[in-house]
Amino acid sequence: MRVTIIGTGYVGLVSGACLADLGHSVMCLDTDEVKIGKLLQGVMPIYEPGLEELVKRNVQAGRLKFTTSFHEGIPGAEVISIAVGTPSAADGSVDMQYVDAAAKMIGQALTGYAVIADKSTVPVGTSERVASIIREFTQHEFDVVSNPEFLREGHAIWDFLKPARIVIGSGSERAKDVMRGMYAHIDCPKIVMDARSAELTKYASNAFLATKISFINEVSHLCEAVGADVEAVAAGMGSDPRIGKEFLKAGPGWGGSCFPKDVKAFLKLGEANNHPMPVTSAALAMNKLARSRVVDRLEKELGGLAGKTIGILGVAFKGNTDDTRESPAVDIIRQCAERGAKVTVYDPEARVSLELHGIDVPHAASPYEAVLKADAVVIATEWEEFRTLDLAKLKQVMVGALIFDARNLLSKEATDKHGFKHLRIGVR
Ligand code: NAD
Repeated sequence: MRVTIIGTGYVGLVSGACLADLGHSVMCLDTDEVKIGKLLQGVMPIYEPGLEELVKRNVQAGRLKFTTSFHEGIPGAEVISIAVGTPSAADGSVDMQYVDAAAKMIGQALTGYAVIADKSTVPVGTSERVASIIREFTQHEFDVVSNPEFLREGHAIWDFLKPARIVIGSGSERAKDVMRGMYAHIDCPKIVMDARSAELTKYASNAFLATKISFINEVSHLCEAVGADVEAVAAGMGSDPRIGKEFLKAGPGWGGSCFPKDVKAFLKLGEANNHPMPVTSAALAMNKLARSRVVDRLEKELGGLAGKTIGILGVAFKGNTDDTRESPAVDIIRQCAERGAKVTVYDPEARVSLELHGIDVPHAASPYEAVLKADAVVIATEWEEFRTLDLAKLKQVMVGALIFDARNLLSKEATDKHGFKHLRIGVR
């Protein structure tokens, strides 16, 4: 099947490479010439485990191509998937300019029937909005389908190829058949519904997961107060299949390119429909608290942060990605710097950018360089390499002996052995 993916970011590039690997002929289209230029030279614009090999294999096989031209990418495509960004606007609603622009360009370049499948996370009613924009520019037949994506950065290839489900929202039997055909080689339930329900399914799923994390973070703060251990409590709770083990890991809060903006958009949707959303509002408030609480505890333990030297391990919003959007680690870095600490950071893939985050901190080439002469080290992202830190070496280069393990990666036994004071989330 011929498939064109519009937007070659985390979702678009992974989807394109995976669909090509399933045997489809895929064109990845992006308006960013630098990004497409890199891809044409075999350079990945993002870090995602396994992606480079997957892209190279499918480019070599002639199944995966890249372009910046709608007139090259649209004609002849049976499915045109929209995977452009849908960032938050200043008021928390969704900035639809990229979706609208993609719809207009599709309409202008369409040469025959195609299914336009919206993979971007978009407000309820977007399928109708996209259809009406396309209709302004073409006489050709087409159907618009909502096909939300649930992949997680860092596990994106696995998630795309082995999803828990694929949601297809459409009223057209023809379009549903085309979509079932595109996903025929992916073995999972295909849940077919109307487009509005499919659009809401994505927001409701993300708001639920974010709320689950906020809930365990609330429990973790109580654990610290009453002398319980959040890991034990989460294990006890999660063994109940009605609750489930996933997303019960306490930490410095959720971040990334999806949860914060999707939770805000979900709240906006409630507001626009005069519908109060107290549960989701509380989850958002709890997320702010989870971040500042790390810095508050650190400040208390060190008797103030002014003039202290802090090494922060982790910049990305989670391990296995270079994505720093709304990262709790970046918030911790910012708050430490604002409270007067001298901060050095290390992350194997991600960087703090003055342009994106408004802060300028030095980056070290290794965890040990980041904690040189430090009073304390904060583990802010769950990279695997931080689980196996050489604690003897760490102790040797630091002046202080405090580890704030905001991801609960290290064992108390190991840190005790090396004479560290070890602060963890959800443990007194
Ligand atoms: P991204 O910012 O990494 O990539 C978006 C790409 O779209 C960019 O390369 C940009 O240049 C391109 N683009 C913008 N306007 C365009 C246009 N008119 N024509 C062609 N290309 C255009 O975004 P992402 O993280 O891949 O997210 C895309 C969508 O998928 C968002 O709605 C997001 O909420 C959703 N989503 C993301 C994830 C995730 O983990 N990143 C998971 C599920 C869903």
